Amino acid sequence: MSDTAANLRAQFPLLAAAPELHYLDSAATAQIHRAALDAVVSHETTRRANVMRGTYRLAEAADLAYEQARQSAARFLNAGSAGEIVFTPGATASLNLVAHAFGSTLKAGDRVLVSVAEHHSNFVPWQMLRDRCGIELAPIPVGADGRLDLTRLSELMGDRCRLVAVTQCSNVTGAWTDVATIVAAARKVGAKVLLDGAQAVQHGPQDVRAMDIDFYAFSGHKCFGPGGVGVLWGRAEALARMPPFLGGGGMIAEVTPEASTWAAPPQRFEAGTPPIAQAIGLAAALDWMMTLDWTAIREREDALCQQLIEGLARIPGLRLLGPQHAHHCEARAPIVSFDIPDLHPHDICQVLDAQNLALRGGHHCAQPLLAALGAEACTRASIALYNGEADIEALLAGLDRARRELA
Ligand code: PMP
Repeated sequence: MSDTAANLRAQFPLLAAAPELHYLDSAATAQIHRAALDAVVSHETTRRANVMRGTYRLAEAADLAYEQARQSAARFLNAGSAGEIVFTPGATASLNLVAHAFGSTLKAGDRVLVSVAEHHSNFVPWQMLRDRCGIELAPIPVGADGRLDLTRLSELMGDRCRLVAVTQCSNVTGAWTDVATIVAAARKVGAKVLLDGAQAVQHGPQDVRAMDIDFYAFSGHKCFGPGGVGVLWGRAEALARMPPFLGGGGMIAEVTPEASTWAAPPQRFEAGTPPIAQAIGLAAALDWMMTLDWTAIREREDALCQQLIEGLARIPGLRLLGPQHAHHCEARAPIVSFDIPDLHPHDICQVLDAQNLALRGGHHCAQPLLAALGAEACTRASIALYNGEADIEALLAGLDRARRELA
C-alpha cells in the first residue's frame, strides 16, 4: 500500500470511523495507529503478566515483549543500545526524571539553560530544581519569529553551564531548533544537552547519535502510539552516573533495613510496574513508522503547511506566529498558530468544532513564549501524515464562517 494521505488515514481506526472529521490537533495528541492498538490488545489477551518478576512462561513472554519494545525504541532513535532506553509515563515524566536525577548531581551556582520557547514541561521542572538547589536558570531568548536567538549563547552559558535543555521543535510555532549550534557551544564548556522531542517524533525517526546530544524525551501518544507511556533516552555514561528518581520495586540491587543499592540503568529509573502494554503498543507504532517513506511524507506535510499559511495570509489582520513566509516551511514543523484580532481562540475553536474541525486554542502550555511574542492565546492547527488538502480547505472555509459568525 502506498503512503498517500488517504491510505494512511485508513490505518487509523478513529479516523476511518469518522470520515467527516478534520483532525488538526496532532500536536496535542496524534491518533493511534491500528498496529499499536492491535499490539496492546494482543499483549493484554495473550501475554499479560508483570515484567522482571515472574519465572513462569507467561511472565517470560511478557518480559521478552517488553525488552523487544525497548529495542524498537532504540532503533527509532538510533540509540547506542536498548539499555539506554527508559520507559516512562510520558515526556513530562522523562523531563522531570532528568531534572531530579541529573539535577541532584548539580551544585548551587551551576547553570542550566532552557529557552523561552519551552513547553511548561521543560520549564517548570527546572524552576523547581532552581528553588530546591540554588542552580542558576537562564532562558535563551527568542526572536520575533519565535526561533531561538542563539547570538548570545556562549555568554548565557558562562563557564558553569552543566546542561542545556531545549525543545527540538516548538509546540506553538513549529520552529525547529538549531541543535548543532547548541551542541557545539555546550561541548566547549562541558555541558550536556537534553532535547525535548515531543513534537518532533511524529514527523519521523530521530538520530540521537548524529545529533550528538545526551538526553532525549518524548511521549507515545504524539507518535501514533498509546497514551501513558513515553521514553527517556540517555547516553549510557550519563545514565550510569545518575542516582534514581523514584524508589520502589524493580530499581534496586539490594535492600536491607538500613540502606539500598541501585540496579543498573535502565531499570534504575523504572521503579514500580512500568506501562507494559503501552510500551509494547508504542513499539508497534515506532516499528510501523520505520517502514514509511519520510522524505515523501515530509514533502506532503510541508505542502499542506504552505497551503495553510498562504490561505491564512488572505485573512485581514490575521497574525501568524513563528517563521513568517510560506517558503519558510522548512524552518517549521507543520504546526501553524495564529491570532485573529477581536476573536478569542476558544470561540474560534468552538465554531470550527461545529464544522467537524478539531483544533486547539489557548496558551498551549507555553506562556513564556506567548508573552515573548506578545500574544495571550492563539489558535493552532497541527498537521500530521494522515491529513490532506481537504482538511486545509475545510479549515480555511471554517475560519471564514467563524469570522462571519463571531463578528
Ligand atoms: N514538550 C512539548 C514540546 C510538548 O508539546 C508536550 C505536549 N504538549 C510535552 C512536552 C509534554 O508531553 P506530555 O503531556 O505527553 O507529557
